[in-house]
Amino acid sequence: MPNTVLWREIQRHNFTSLKSLADFLELTPTQIKELDLHSLFPLNLPRRLAQKIPKRTLDGPIFRQFVPLIDEKIEKVGFSCDPLSENQARPTPKLLHKYNERALMLPTSGCAMNCRYCFRRHFAYETNKPGFEEELAYIRADTSLREIILSGGDPLSLSNPNLATLFTELEQIPHLRRIRIHTRFPIGIPERIDQELVDILKACSLQIWFVIHCNHPTELDVEVLEALKRVPAPLLCHSVLLRGVNDSIQTLKALFERLVDHGITPYYLYQLDPIAGAAHFEVSEERGKAFMEELTLHLSGYALPKYVREIAGQGSKTPV
Ligand SMILES: *Cc1c(COP(=O)(O)O)cnc(C)c1O
Ligand code: SF4
Repeated sequence: MPNTVLWREIQRHNFTSLKSLADFLELTPTQIKELDLHSLFPLNLPRRLAQKIPKRTLDGPIFRQFVPLIDEKIEKVGFSCDPLSENQARPTPKLLHKYNERALMLPTSGCAMNCRYCFRRHFAYETNKPGFEEELAYIRADTSLREIILSGGDPLSLSNPNLATLFTELEQIPHLRRIRIHTRFPIGIPERIDQELVDILKACSLQIWFVIHCNHPTELDVEVLEALKRVPAPLLCHSVLLRGVNDSIQTLKALFERLVDHGITPYYLYQLDPIAGAAHFEVSEERGKAFMEELTLHLSGYALPKYVREIAGQGSKTPV
């Protein structure tokens, strides 16, 4: 009997052809001229997100986050392919170690969706070598490490058996205490939080923290929230401040409120990383700071994320 995994089956039906998506969204020929049909970072969009996009318009938070526009060709001073110098903090092909006591693993290049502003859109992932032998050797040897962050790509692109194997390897490293999962998967394909995954998380002897990535309240629909409710770990959220997506007080307030309404703590609001292709998403720090000041007057302390940016070479994120 073929072993079909529901979420993989759903993922197989993602929109990957911009032409089909344009048809689905009933875009006009003039609107289609605004699309970047030949982007090297291709369209990859789960159906359920596409269904949230209003027809016959290029606006809206879901459209702007996921559909390649010719605006991505805008070149802007300071926007580059590796703005965070990640390649200088890469002791093994699938590991970034920049901060004390925690290291970030890139177990896969795959994602449920491709986000246009992604700061790893030009990242040269190691995709030829399966497994994590070198990474695990490095983690075993550095006894100062306490936490392994699974990021990516999206770590939930790994199959449940592969995740379980990785967890087992990490559990055997005595100086580790925590695994942190950074994922956007449940926003696009909530079916990913299946019972098998819940059981794997429950069975892990290391503490688990689960950080979702979400930028607009419309991403948090009932099905997504139901799925997240099943995750047996503390839930945090990080967001990126994006022009045309969430750059208003009303939207940010609705996002953070919706998160805390469902027991998810807003963790970071990131200033956009200056990655080539994403310049049209930039919101100035001045506007960002003004949003945060205003929100401070309305939201409980725990509903306000830290507004930070990443600066290459620094030992932590930097408050804006
Ligand atoms: C952001 C990041 C972390 C995590 O930082 P926290 O402030 O602990 O969330 C860890 N490693 C790398 C390389 C990072 O970019
Ligand atoms: S899910 Fe995360 S890693 Fe994947 S494209 Fe989006 S921002 Fe980038």
